[in-house]
Amino acid sequence: MLKTQKNFLLLSLTFFPPIFSTNQNITIKSIYHHRGATHAYDNALELGSVSFYFSAKPSIQKIKSESISGNMQRNTYRIQGARLNAEQQAKLPIITKHYTLALCNVGDDVHMIITYDARKVAIELNTFDSISLQKGVSIHFLNRIFCYAERQPQIPAKKKNRQKKVVIDCGHGGSDAGAIGYDGIKEKDVVLRVGLRVAQLLKKANIGVLLTRSSDQDVSLDERTSYANHHNADLFVSIHANASKNSSAQGIDTFFMSTSLLHNENQLSDGICGNALHNALRLRADESKHLAQSVHQSLITNVKKQYPTVVDRTVKHEVAQILLGSYMPAILIEVGFVTHEQEAKRLHDPSYQNLLAACICDGIVAYLKE
Ligand SMILES: [Zn+2]
Repeated sequence: MLKTQKNFLLLSLTFFPPIFSTNQNITIKSIYHHRGATHAYDNALELGSVSFYFSAKPSIQKIKSESISGNMQRNTYRIQGARLNAEQQAKLPIITKHYTLALCNVGDDVHMIITYDARKVAIELNTFDSISLQKGVSIHFLNRIFCYAERQPQIPAKKKNRQKKVVIDCGHGGSDAGAIGYDGIKEKDVVLRVGLRVAQLLKKANIGVLLTRSSDQDVSLDERTSYANHHNADLFVSIHANASKNSSAQGIDTFFMSTSLLHNENQLSDGICGNALHNALRLRADESKHLAQSVHQSLITNVKKQYPTVVDRTVKHEVAQILLGSYMPAILIEVGFVTHEQEAKRLHDPSYQNLLAACICDGIVAYLKE
């Protein structure tokens, strides 16, 4: 089951009409910084992105845009009625090679300050409703050299002549148990066993594997995405188990993120890279959909052979941080409900875990062979 984990940043906005005007106090629930493969600046469109979750629709306005020394640009934005808590402030600002982000409380509002080299970097801002029904804003830092049509980046997974690198992400871990279900079964334990088995099988298929965690440890969502981006992985496969207050809910879902869920706020964006970002996200969404269908089909077809009552909850699209922040085709699989008695017993069973793992591996291999 998807759960937000905290991370923190500093940011900012200008004299443009606000998006989502409101005058109620809102809380900044979570802040994520997904780092791009910054060591590969020359061949990466996405240098990094920052996502916010708000308790309600934020009102964001650019209040200042100024050139400081050389080509450095500083934009100041205001988030009306928002508040940063002390814990968040303690982990700010964030400084990268290409941009710095600062966030601070000013009067009743929060000011976000972005400083970047306007010759090299462009900013695009999107809004979305997250899978956990929070109001989201994502700020994308883009490599300007890729903003011109003739330099659009390709999807590496389709390049045939090199070993593929697949990131297997076992959800939750450590102090974050994820969902806890029937007989105290913990999501974090089930998905770790399934994920480690998937990794083993992929290696046997001569596919490179990177694990975001290989033991019961805490790893934040944006550490996972930044790890995958840093290693220029070809695919990102996140494994979770579901839960519901309704104990009869059961079955397997597979999620990917489609661009239709993201709304570009061009009045707050630089407006230079909108198309480049949209094309990159659309290309990735198409590939993520194919990967989701391949893995889901493999799961449903083969698991049902032995367990005909397993429910097919289909392939769906949602905005989840793990999908938004990974700059390669990415999916999230919910392998079943820990709150459903029979399904929880199956999920606890090593032979069922191995069956799920074999199906996930076969689905990934089939996609890569397409
Ligand atoms: Zn989960």
